[in-house]
Amino acid sequence: MQVDAAMVESILNGDRRILARAITLVESTRADHRAQAVELIDRLTQKGRSALRIGLSGTPGVGKSTFTESFGMMLVEQGLKVAVLAVDPSSKRSGGSILGDKTRMDNLSRHPNAFIRPSPSSAALGGVARRTREAITLCEAAGFDVVLVETVGVGQSEVMVADMTDLFLLLLAPAGGDELQGVKRGIMEIADLILVNKADGDLKPTAVRTCADYAGALRLLRKRPQDPKGFPKAMTVSALEEEGLEQVWSEIRTLTDWRKEDGAFDANRARQAEIWFQDEIRRGILAQLDQDEALQKLQSELREKVTNGSLSPDAAAAEVLLALKSSNQVG
Ligand code: GDP
Repeated sequence: MQVDAAMVESILNGDRRILARAITLVESTRADHRAQAVELIDRLTQKGRSALRIGLSGTPGVGKSTFTESFGMMLVEQGLKVAVLAVDPSSKRSGGSILGDKTRMDNLSRHPNAFIRPSPSSAALGGVARRTREAITLCEAAGFDVVLVETVGVGQSEVMVADMTDLFLLLLAPAGGDELQGVKRGIMEIADLILVNKADGDLKPTAVRTCADYAGALRLLRKRPQDPKGFPKAMTVSALEEEGLEQVWSEIRTLTDWRKEDGAFDANRARQAEIWFQDEIRRGILAQLDQDEALQKLQSELREKVTNGSLSPDAAAAEVLLALKSSNQVG
């Protein structure tokens, strides 16, 4: 695939087929693809298009797909363009991806204003992070208004997703009081809205109680001086019966408008861009250490000295870093 003006133009025009191919390009680990991806992302970043980036997480079965379908449909019916990206750190083990079964988002996946992209099935956690950030940039350039980044709740992935989105929704199931203990404090701390799903039928009273418990926990846990009063919030929803979704959207807009007004929104994006930049530098250095033949050879020689005790780990590492530096100076 050639990164040329025509491709850039197609993405800017919202051509979903080219968008899908561009995401495949940024997912590729091949060196030549990587170089093209970097060029493409840079060209598109300079267009300055921006979407609202929303992170969504929850344990399997809590209703993420159902929520994404109903919430996404509500947004597209309002005329918004919605992209859904999945970050699935567990896919390596399960061999599938959370959104691999697209039939679960039947209506949304067929809607002309929606774009759904399952995560690559064999990627390591760090790799997924980079590709997802790039995929977000591609979707923004393609003119999507909202990019929903969905992840299975397994701890690390939520933090990663929160670091690339503007706000973070945590989907929870109605449950007894002891369930509350199971939600890690760190996850509660990054959530802007806690949505207790399945607040319908027999589960409704439990959902309402669970919601009150989480609302109490949120009040104790955290105060964000930069956010409007009442945030972070806990609310009940029913993804299945499409209840409470408009309120969720309204809360999202209230929070976003507030943060835009007081500069926190842009400050957060600037911080995220910096994290991305730092991550890429580190990743690049590590890739060089792993791929450069001379450095590889040096490392294996030194590894032997380190393990047999003839050289200290410190001194060996210093030698590798020096070699890295001088190989970069020559190259
Ligand atoms: P995911 O694994 O988090 O993506 O969860 P799914 O969206 O696949 O939903 C898991 C199960 O919960 C399915 O059987 C859904 O029909 C059901 N479910 C999802 N949302 C709701 C809801 O709002 N109410 C009820 N009663 N069931 C729901």
